[in-house]
Amino acid sequence: MGDNIFLKIIRKEIPADIVYEDEEILAFYDIHPIAPVHILVVPKKPIESIATMDDEDAAVVGRMFLVARDIARDLNISEKGYKLLIRVGKDGGQEVPHLHLHLLGGARLSENIHPI
Ligand code: 5GP
Repeated sequence: MGDNIFLKIIRKEIPADIVYEDEEILAFYDIHPIAPVHILVVPKKPIESIATMDDEDAAVVGRMFLVARDIARDLNISEKGYKLLIRVGKDGGQEVPHLHLHLLGGARLSENIHPI
């Protein structure tokens, strides 16, 4: 698997506005936010996507959702609600080939999913 921008952020080679970090997960603000709150939760392990993850990655992928839950609570958007999004591959619109969970909130979000 090749290098990518998120692996560089994980290795602290390029800066990011980090909101959470532990031994296996990093969360940081998206550089081009599409909602008032837009945070990316990523595994430190180089998992390319949901399509290519191993069964043994299920625990860390599950923990990504717990981290998103806790960040949403910390930012006080939990009660009003938010959206969690994972893009997969080309048709899913995934641009960075490192698994990431988008935490989107802070406003009522529209649905905008249709074939291009
Ligand atoms: P995707 O389209 O792959 O689901 O989402 C990739 C996301 O990564 C986009 O929302 C994009 O704005 C964000 N992104 C791309 N490069 C960087 C970067 O260098 N730093 C940060 N913080 N976010 C990035």
